[in-house]
Amino acid sequence: MTQNKPSSRRKLVVGNWKMYGNLAWNKTLLESLVEGLRDYRNADYAVCVPTPYLFQAQAVLAGSNIAWGGQNMHQFEGGAFTGSVAPHMLVDFGCSYVIIGHSERRELCYESDPVVAAKFEVAVKVGIKPIFCLGETREEYEAGITEEVVARQLDAVLSRVGPDGLAEGVLAYEPVWAIGTGRGASPAQAQAVHAFIRERIAEQDFEVASHIKILHGGSVRVANAAQLLSMPDIDGALVGNASLVADQFIAICRAAN
Ligand code: PEP
Repeated sequence: MTQNKPSSRRKLVVGNWKMYGNLAWNKTLLESLVEGLRDYRNADYAVCVPTPYLFQAQAVLAGSNIAWGGQNMHQFEGGAFTGSVAPHMLVDFGCSYVIIGHSERRELCYESDPVVAAKFEVAVKVGIKPIFCLGETREEYEAGITEEVVARQLDAVLSRVGPDGLAEGVLAYEPVWAIGTGRGASPAQAQAVHAFIRERIAEQDFEVASHIKILHGGSVRVANAAQLLSMPDIDGALVGNASLVADQFIAICRAAN
């Protein structure tokens, strides 16, 4: 469903801080973002911070045009799951978003498609927008099975929540080979997979496919952001490394504005 006219979907840029930060450093970064994005109101922005710093993100960002969110959560409402964070705990700290199915959790924490789908469903249930990550590994890319992999990941969530449920979230296509490498997908390469994802959703529900945001992630930097964001099926960015440097993240957000 590649469109020839500019998309009416409002762009969204999300920073993923991963396991970085401390109280003093976060304060400087968050305050710089508030200042740097204050007058840029034509796009949406968010930062997904480590869980212990949600309180701080809420304190600094409340009332600004920057939302905040978690980087993961458990799929159950509570229980004997030492070290895990329940969905309602993110709600308690005012989270608008939670990243679900990031490749680092799929690979390093063995999160399966069904677990990702369960987390997506419960996030929607508690009123937090899941940012659902999907993307192929380098081996899968080299084997030419990108579409097969992405379709499998998408279908796991679609079959659990249906198109209407999917519409409550945001997708983030992140080729795993591009994450943290500094060698991202080209705008044309990225656009092709984004269009494939949107078309696959359209097979079930055209309206949902037209409206859902599909962010791009994987070495989005100041140098390539504007070009990526100009592609018709790229509705924003999920930014790792570059979200840790205020000037860089602000520049990427402004490119979306
Ligand atoms: C990410 O962590 O989701 C990510 C895209 O990281 P980076 O921008 O560093 O590639």
